[in-house]
Amino acid sequence: MSQKLLVVEDEISISTLLQFNLEQAGFQVITAMDGKNGLEKAEREIPDLIILDLMLPEMDGLEVCKELHSKKLNIPILMLTAKDDEFDKVLGLELGADDYMTKPFRPREVVARVKAILRRTGATDTEKNKKEKVEHLQIGEVDIYPENYEAYFKGEALELTPKEFELLVYLTRNKGRVLSREQLLSAVWNYDFVGDTRIVDVHISHLRDKIEMNTRKPTYIKTIRGLGYKLEEPQ
Ligand code: CA
Repeated sequence: MSQKLLVVEDEISISTLLQFNLEQAGFQVITAMDGKNGLEKAEREIPDLIILDLMLPEMDGLEVCKELHSKKLNIPILMLTAKDDEFDKVLGLELGADDYMTKPFRPREVVARVKAILRRTGATDTEKNKKEKVEHLQIGEVDIYPENYEAYFKGEALELTPKEFELLVYLTRNKGRVLSREQLLSAVWNYDFVGDTRIVDVHISHLRDKIEMNTRKPTYIKTIRGLGYKLEEPQ
């Protein structure tokens, strides 16, 4: 089966030129004329690669990159930039672009570059993307995948007990809200009666050991005196 490419480009002449040449090279090509539509098509179609113009209406190329990245759609991206675009290459590459090309370019060059990226990245990422999307919660530098029972702090796997994990998930789903010890006890430990709320404090303290730089001055899990706890985006 031929590989599917998504071309996100608002200049119709360039889009048509790319589509023609890529189809000639044996690719299946879908197109989008603005960033928002490009993102929607990327999510729906999961192409093998995206050719993404930087300057786009609705949502620019960098934003599209960022969104794809935050949705864990690891689709290879070839970024197109105009010569005088203020394009921060480092930022672009950090946000998930695999390569970039400056306009004007020869279509043949683009085809060659696309093939090179696809060879380099392989089909594995696309296969991964086709599996069901996994729920991803994020707060500050903590990433949580509830279904997989995985959590990361600054990209490093966190070693959490099942209850610590559930507590972290519950706090994250309710971030910004003050939660009483009783609420946490009932949500995480399923205690419908008034249990010993110290168990909550102990688990909070273990969580803090794992995600706070300074447990005396927590930036994530705040103690709200007399009420309970609140998870916040660290400042
Ligand atoms: Ca453009």
